[in-house]
Amino acid sequence: MTWEGWSLKLGRVAGIDLWMHATFPLLFIWVGFIYWVQTGTLAGVLFGLSFIAVLFLCVILHEYGHALTARRYGIGTRYITLLPIGGLAALERMPRRPRHEIIVALMGPAVNIVIAAALAVLLTLTGGWVAPDMDGPMLMPANFLQTVLFANIFLAVFNMIPAFPMDGGRVLRAALSLRMGHVSATRVAARVGKTVALGFGVLGLFGNPLLILIAGFIWIGAAGEAGASEMEAQLQGRPVARAMITDFHTLAPGAPLGHAVDLTLAGKQTDFPVLDAGRLVGVASQAAILRGLRDHGLHGRVAEVMSEPVTADLHTDLAELMENLQRDPEHRLICLMQRGALVGVIDMENIAEFLRIQAALSER
Ligand SMILES: [Zn+2]
Repeated sequence: MTWEGWSLKLGRVAGIDLWMHATFPLLFIWVGFIYWVQTGTLAGVLFGLSFIAVLFLCVILHEYGHALTARRYGIGTRYITLLPIGGLAALERMPRRPRHEIIVALMGPAVNIVIAAALAVLLTLTGGWVAPDMDGPMLMPANFLQTVLFANIFLAVFNMIPAFPMDGGRVLRAALSLRMGHVSATRVAARVGKTVALGFGVLGLFGNPLLILIAGFIWIGAAGEAGASEMEAQLQGRPVARAMITDFHTLAPGAPLGHAVDLTLAGKQTDFPVLDAGRLVGVASQAAILRGLRDHGLHGRVAEVMSEPVTADLHTDLAELMENLQRDPEHRLICLMQRGALVGVIDMENIAEFLRIQAALSER
């Protein structure tokens, strides 16, 4: 098992890395504590913990429902993380076709419905249904499976609330974008999400304070999605030539690393295309140059640290390029080509600059 930042890698299932956030065990401590208070026995605590474990297994299956459906449309999943509030499948990108986005979003809750249906069949066949006992504890060994069943129905319904970051929000946005543009659809969906959040907040004031927490969570999700979509709208259809850097330094494969250091210190370029007799052969990133300095010192060669260049055509639009840059944090520089020749470079910083300029111009 390996740690990376705040997450612990649990393993790799179906070709997707499964991570657990460091705060996830807090949920188990909390649930264990509640069962200790309620039952006062170790058996009671273990029982509560096994319920949460089974519930999170259902959450993981829900996330795999999204991830494996996305894979059918050629979209990979970078990882699945378990957070105390639920699971998160980080898809490389969202499906472009609204119909596909709807199916990917629905397949998570669908998994919970299938689990609930399977348990209902099992309980019926074994005569395991238990009448609710209003005086006893909510969860007992006798109604364990029945409670798991209802929890799965709750997961499906909760996730279908039509607000980001819930699956229902994605379904709503995709359904709207069948009739209007992607950006307007996101705007409308975000507004619906914020209205839902306000509703939860008001309900929370008079009832369960947990609803206020959920309201905040939905509000942030709606605002974030609207922001990301505005940005995408600004970038879409803008050829990369509008934002790229044309005045940049390149390195020769045989150049010493000391030369790269001089160029970085003299200007602000940190990553360099490597040209051999005018032909692009690699990229020397700052991280690679620093590693090279540690291993070989100032006299190490650029060729020893450079990696495969990431290239794009000069007519690629900025939205697509940003997606490429976000997908792979190792590749921070994209080389822009025209008829086989390097004509410019671009990184996240340039795109951010371009957005700031656009924003300033639109405020005039
Ligand atoms: Zn989901």
